[in-house]
Order: sequence, then structure tokens, then C-alpha cells
Amino acid sequence: MATFQAPKGTYDLIPPYSAKYLAVRDAISGPLRLSGYGYVETPGFEDVDLFARGVGESTDIVTKEMYTLTTKGGANLALRPEGTASVLRAALEANLHKAGGLPVKLWYSGSYYRYERPQKGRYRHFSQVGAEAIGAEDPALDAELIILADQAYRSLGLRNFRILLNSLGDKECRPVYREALQSFLSGLDLDAETVRRAEINPLRVLDDKRADVQKQLVGAPVLRDYLCDACKAYHEEVRALITAAGVAFEDDEKLVRGLDYYTRTTFEFVHDGLGSQSAVGGGGRYDGLSEMIGGPALPSVGWALGVDRTVLALEAEGVELDIPASTSVFAVALGEAKPVLFGLVTELRRAGVAADISYGGKGLKGAMKDANRSGARFAIVAGDRDLAEGVVQLKDMESGEQSPVALTDVVEVLRTKLA
Ligand code: AMP
Repeated sequence: MATFQAPKGTYDLIPPYSAKYLAVRDAISGPLRLSGYGYVETPGFEDVDLFARGVGESTDIVTKEMYTLTTKGGANLALRPEGTASVLRAALEANLHKAGGLPVKLWYSGSYYRYERPQKGRYRHFSQVGAEAIGAEDPALDAELIILADQAYRSLGLRNFRILLNSLGDKECRPVYREALQSFLSGLDLDAETVRRAEINPLRVLDDKRADVQKQLVGAPVLRDYLCDACKAYHEEVRALITAAGVAFEDDEKLVRGLDYYTRTTFEFVHDGLGSQSAVGGGGRYDGLSEMIGGPALPSVGWALGVDRTVLALEAEGVELDIPASTSVFAVALGEAKPVLFGLVTELRRAGVAADISYGGKGLKGAMKDANRSGARFAIVAGDRDLAEGVVQLKDMESGEQSPVALTDVVEVLRTKLA
């Protein structure tokens, strides 16, 4: 019979490698949890239209990359390609914006799905940790999120990343720019699909990576020249606050990001050791999204950081995460000692000590191999004779030293030694 493999463009996280992913998720969520962000979890799939309307009908994500399905009941669903639209939908549905003060600050962590051409750093299933601050227009909020992401990456030991920053303007100034850009683009030699994109969302054409397109874009009108005074002042304040926090960034007027909902502040975190898939995270302000999906006006800002690419970036920089051994104490039971040591292991676990025991009726040699493999700092070994004397042998796995400890004391002794 054929064996099964993980679907194309996906991979499994298995120990010990998977521990890196947990550590990265913890490191990214840690600063958020200390900054007033509450945990939110939404379903892995949503109504297709939420993404079509929210992310944008002209984006690659919606036109090419969504996993869509029709249920037996006739509902059109999509596996979520990103988190912002879902989180905002959940906040609106729960009336969080009416419940207390604004902004509503939320963070999330989960799996996302895009039918992309797989390559290193680009998968069809990947994971993100994200944050959204919903319902407030305040440059300090944009700055807060950028600073928290920087703090998260630094706490992991990442250094070679850059922050790219731009403003996309608002509903006053962006349409004026849009028209100027559209008129510039109409004079270029573009393929039919790009011409269509130029009609629906001309800013996204600036994002086109193809050299022949980029060559023609030289001399295109620049958004910065069209920003209204309010957007300019807002952007300057964001820049000043980030600078005051000691966080370095680069102004990048070409940064438009691949989603339609962004307004004003947009930013991306790029790592130079990752090749073509260099964005480890990104985000921005999305003041119009709530109304696009049927809610009230709720100016908001957020980001999503890619866990997979953050792990790749750590590897590219040669950063070794400080991941503690999963087992501190390993029990090796000989003869009839298994039930007693099994009870001891249970007691250790209840006392908060990471403990494990050899299974499968192995002899001393096999069980000691298990103890070594577990990475445990200590082994407790006991046979019938030890138990008759009321002791276990406590073995220091680093020094190899071994000494008897009374059964009644062993939990306390180990707790002290490991503290
Ligand atoms: P985006 O909203 O597309 O900017 O995605 C935010 C972050 O998620 C990116 O900076 C990547 O780190 C990560 N990401 C997006 N798409 C993928 C993918 N196909 N595979 C792995 N990571 C991804």
C-alpha cells in the first residue's frame, strides 16, 4: 500500500526541531502580553467574501492563493490566508469595540494557508503570530507595534533584520495619487493582467518584482509627494516615536504590501540572510477595513510575523536558542521496582519537575540508553535490593557520580538540586 506524505508545500514540525517554533511563538507573544494585548483565536476557515472584500479582489492572495471549498450546506469558505480580516470580524461580531475603551488590543497565533509556488521560506501552510490594535488613530499605536516586533526579534537574538517604513496616505490623498499613477501606468507597455491590476489597484503594480516592469516604473509618481498634511504629520510622529525608542528603520517609498486594506503606516521586517523570501513580518494601518467588511469606522493597525521565516532567519544568523532539556530526571527501574519508580515520577511531575521513565520492559543497558537520550540531568535507578533498603541510586548524568538517597527524600533532594 502507498505510504502518505505531507502535502506539497507543507512540512511537519517534529521534536527536537519543533521546540524552536514554540520558543519563537513565545518570544513574539511575550512583549504583546506585557503590553495589554489579549489572546484571540478564530476558526481556520471563514466565509470567502470576508477575504475577498477585506484583503482585496485584485490581490494575488485572493485571486490565486486561497484554498476555497463549498460545504455540503452550500457555504463558500476559504482556509484563512491571513489573520487580520478574521480577527477584526471576530471583534466586530463580539462587539468588543462597544464593550470598553478603544483600542481593542488582540494577539493571535496560528496556521495560515496560501496556494503559492513552494520554495525555501514560502510554504502552503505556515504559521504566524500577529497583533491588532483596533479602533484608535494614534501614531503611538503604530509605533508601539513596530517597537514590540523589534523587541521580540531582538529577544530571540536576531540582529541582521531591517525595518522598512512607508505611508500609503489616506482616503483624502491616496485617490489623487492613484489617479496620477494610473495615468502614468496607462502609458506603459504592460501585459493584460497588469493592465487590469493597474485599473483595480495601481499601487500594487509598484510591487511587481519583474525586471521589465520595474524598468518601466522609473520616474513613476511617488506617493510621498502626494501625502496630505494630516498624513504627513501622522507619519512624522510615528517616525519620531520609533526613533526615540532607539529602533532603527529605513524609509521605503516603494513599500506597498500585497493587501488592499492598508492606509497610512505600512512596514515590513526583512532579513538579509533569507534570499528571495526575505520578509519575516509585516503590517500596517488599515483604517478602512472595518467598513469594508460591514462594520463601523474603526481605524486600526496591526502586524503578522512569520514563525517559519523567523526560524530560518535565526538559522541564517547562527543563533542557537536557549531551549532547556525537556526532561530533567529519568527513572530506570530494575526487577520489581517499576511501580515504585513510576509513582516517584508521578510525584516529581506533580512537584513541577520534568520527569520521565523507561518503558517497554528494558534491561539496565537499554533503560540507561533511554536516560542518556532524554538529556536528563539526573537518573534515578533502583532495583529490588535498593527498595528493600528504602533507597534509590541518584546518578548525576554529567559527572557520572552516583549515591543512594532515601526514597522519602528523593523528590525534595531533586527539587533542590534542580532549582
Ligand atoms: P504578509 O501578510 O503576506 O506580509 O505575511 C506576513 C508574514 O507571514 C511574512 O512576512 C512571512 O514571514 C509570513 N508568510 C507569508 N506568506 C508565507 C508563506 N507562504 N510561507 C511562509 N511564511 C509566509
